[in-house]
Amino acid sequence: MLALFVLAGCSVNPVTGERQLSLISESQEHEIGREQYVPTQQMQGGQFYIDPELTRYVNEVGQKLAAVSDRPDLPYEFTVLNSSVPNAWALPAGKIAINRGLLVQLEDEAQMASVLGHEIVHAAARHSVQRMQQSMLLSVGIAGLGIALTDNKWAGLAMGGAALGSQIALARNSQAHELESDDHGIRYMIEAGYDPMAAVELQELFVKLSEGGSSSFLDGLFASHPPSQRRVDENRKLVAQLGAGGYRGREEYQRRIAKAKALQPAYDARDEAAKLLNDGKLDAALTKINEAIAKEPDEAAFHALRGQIHERMKKPEVARADYDKAVSLYPEMFSYRIVRGLNELNLGNLDKARTDLLEASRVVPTSIAYLRLGDIAVRQNQRGEAMQYYNQAAQAGGDIGEEARRKLSALQRN
Ligand SMILES: [Zn+2]
Repeated sequence: MLALFVLAGCSVNPVTGERQLSLISESQEHEIGREQYVPTQQMQGGQFYIDPELTRYVNEVGQKLAAVSDRPDLPYEFTVLNSSVPNAWALPAGKIAINRGLLVQLEDEAQMASVLGHEIVHAAARHSVQRMQQSMLLSVGIAGLGIALTDNKWAGLAMGGAALGSQIALARNSQAHELESDDHGIRYMIEAGYDPMAAVELQELFVKLSEGGSSSFLDGLFASHPPSQRRVDENRKLVAQLGAGGYRGREEYQRRIAKAKALQPAYDARDEAAKLLNDGKLDAALTKINEAIAKEPDEAAFHALRGQIHERMKKPEVARADYDKAVSLYPEMFSYRIVRGLNELNLGNLDKARTDLLEASRVVPTSIAYLRLGDIAVRQNQRGEAMQYYNQAAQAGGDIGEEARRKLSALQRN
C-alpha cells in the first residue's frame, strides 16, 4: 500500500466536475486495474468460459455504454464470472465483472445495461480510488472498510496485491456513491438507447429482496451496493424528468442467457456437493458431484471438487485424474493448480508439485503455496530458496504464518 502513497495534490473528478484530493494518480489507477483484474476474477470463481458467447454479449453491451460515459477513454473490459453469488463489481480504470448468478436473475438487456452502467460510473468517477485515499488518510487500511468476502475460502490465503483487488471490488459503497452511480448510469442508458425504467424497476426489486432478508443477494450485490428506497425515489424522479421509453431487449436477452440458465441445476448440484463434503458426508457428496459432471462434463470446477472429495476418501491417485482434468480445462486458474500441486506433494512428486504451486503463485500469490514451496525446497536441499519461500509465507497470519515462522527459525538455527 505504501508504494501507492504518492502525493499528487488536487484534480477534477471526471464525472462530477468537482475538484477533489488526488493521492492516487491516474497512471496508478490504471496500474491497479490492469494488475488486479485477473487475480480478482480468479478469487471470485474465475471466468465463465463454458459460455464465451455470453461474455462477448456482456462486453458488447458494456462497451456501448462505456462509449457514452464521462470517461470513454478508459481501457474498459467486461467479463462474466463463474459464481452463483449474484454480484457485480468494478475495479479502477474500468475493469468490470458480473457474476453468472446475477445474470440469470435479470429479465432483459436493459436491466443488464442498468447494472453495467452503474458499475461504469463507479470506475469512471474513481469511487474505489477515493475510498482507498480516504483509508490512507485515516490510516485504517483497506481492511477496515467493512468488506463482504462472501464464502470465499481463498480470501484469507491471498497475499499482497491479489488480496487488495478483492477488497477494492467487494468493499461497501457509500450512499452518496450509489446515488451518483445510479444517476449517471441512467443517463448513459438513455444515451445508448435503453429504457431507463429498467433501472428503476430493478432497484425496486432489490429493495424488496433486501427486506425479505434471506436472499443470497445480501452476501453478494447488496453487501457492496446497498439498495434503498431513497435510490428508488431519486431514480424515479430522474426518469420522469428525462423521459422513459427505449430498448428493452427481452427476447434477445433470454436467448443469450438460455445456456447459463439451463446449466443452473448442474451448479446447484455442485453447491450441494460442496456442502455435503463440508459436513463429511463423502458418499453423498460424490453422488451429487457426479450428477453435476453428467450434466456438464467440461466444467473444470466440478472436476476440481470431485478431486477434493476423492482426496478426503483417501484416494489421492483417483483425485489426481480429477485435478488433471480440471487443470486441462482451465489451465490459468490458480486454485486448480494449488489443489493439484498439494495432492502431488502428498504423492511425493516434488517437481510436479513445485511447477503447479509456482504457476498458481504467478497469478494469485498465496501463503499456502509459499509454505509448501518452502517444504519442497527443504526436501530438495535448496536451503536459500526454502528460506525465501518461508519468509514470504511468514508474512501471513494464522496457522500458515505460524508454521512458516517456526520452520524459518529452525532453518536459521541449522
Ligand atoms: Zn454501486
